[in-house]
Amino acid sequence: MPYPFPQAAVPLLLDWYRQNRRDLPWRENRDPYRVLVSEIMLQQTRAETVKPYFRRFVATLPTVADLAEVDEPTLLKLWEGLGYYSRVRNLQKAARAVMEKHNGIIPADFDALLALPGVGRYTAGAVASIAFDIPVPAVDGNVLRVLARLTGDDTDILSPAAKKAAEAAIAPHVPAPGAGDFTQSLIELGALICTPGSDPKCNNCPLQLLCTANREGKQGILPVRLAKTKRRVEERTVLVLRWKDGEGRWHIALRKRPSEGLLGGLYEFPCMDGHFDEGKVQAHLTALGLPVGEVQKLPNAKHLFSHIEWRMIGYAVVLTAPPSAVEDWFFARISELDEWYAIPSAYGAYRPYCFG
Ligand code: SF4
Repeated sequence: MPYPFPQAAVPLLLDWYRQNRRDLPWRENRDPYRVLVSEIMLQQTRAETVKPYFRRFVATLPTVADLAEVDEPTLLKLWEGLGYYSRVRNLQKAARAVMEKHNGIIPADFDALLALPGVGRYTAGAVASIAFDIPVPAVDGNVLRVLARLTGDDTDILSPAAKKAAEAAIAPHVPAPGAGDFTQSLIELGALICTPGSDPKCNNCPLQLLCTANREGKQGILPVRLAKTKRRVEERTVLVLRWKDGEGRWHIALRKRPSEGLLGGLYEFPCMDGHFDEGKVQAHLTALGLPVGEVQKLPNAKHLFSHIEWRMIGYAVVLTAPPSAVEDWFFARISELDEWYAIPSAYGAYRPYCFG
């Protein structure tokens, strides 16, 4: 069933947003580069988490040209901890496309934005409306939730049909001028008031009197989200392998992941596929010619990607002599870890053990 979006909601949303919007660093101005960076960062990540990353990113790379030219290790380091690293690689590809095809100026056109690498319909709509005040819809998960409740729509919001229907329903109502504030009002309402879960703050909501879910007590039922495909479970044994040189400096074993695919191009601790007990870890490392000393079991950890779940067990291993070259591992100075090596947050549970 399509969303019948009430026109009366538009002025209510605009008024509410203009009085209640949060001061966020990407709202200081409407520079399209800053809007684009923030929208890519905000995908799957909360605004509070994004704030320091955003400030550091635009301070280090203040223009599209800077982003297009920066080397990969610096780029990945700026993104370290935000996850979903393909986003930042695509962001750089988009910057390069802007340099090559648009003379370094982010285009004020929905279709041209949509043609940039890594820019989908939501991001194109967000940049077009927020940076350029072009009246186009921008529908993300927050907006889908607000709309489903406001209109009582029970379409599965994870289906592509729901997004299309929502865009079609909103499009005729996006005001001009005011498109940017309208886009942000729906997103902000979903983040602050019409929150996930069964208890949104309806008493503080500007749409309360128009809202079907509020009238019918369906806040806990809407939006409908049918179960996602199950994640594939991968078991891994993570090895935090350390060695101290003659001058008392500690070194840690790392490997670089292949540039394509999950966490492509990032650094990680050596891992074994499957779960292994201490004896098997010791035997494996000895077979590789490593002088194994103390082996300590570390806590188990889990990390969820969109389609994969890593279930990890870990060991801290101290080597008793300088290691020989092993597979594609290398030993980095621990003192240089923070500055030079982007290690994904999937390994966050094991990172502290690098330091003993
Ligand atoms: Fe969401 Fe409640 Fe507002 Fe309806 S009244 S849009 S359910 S917060």
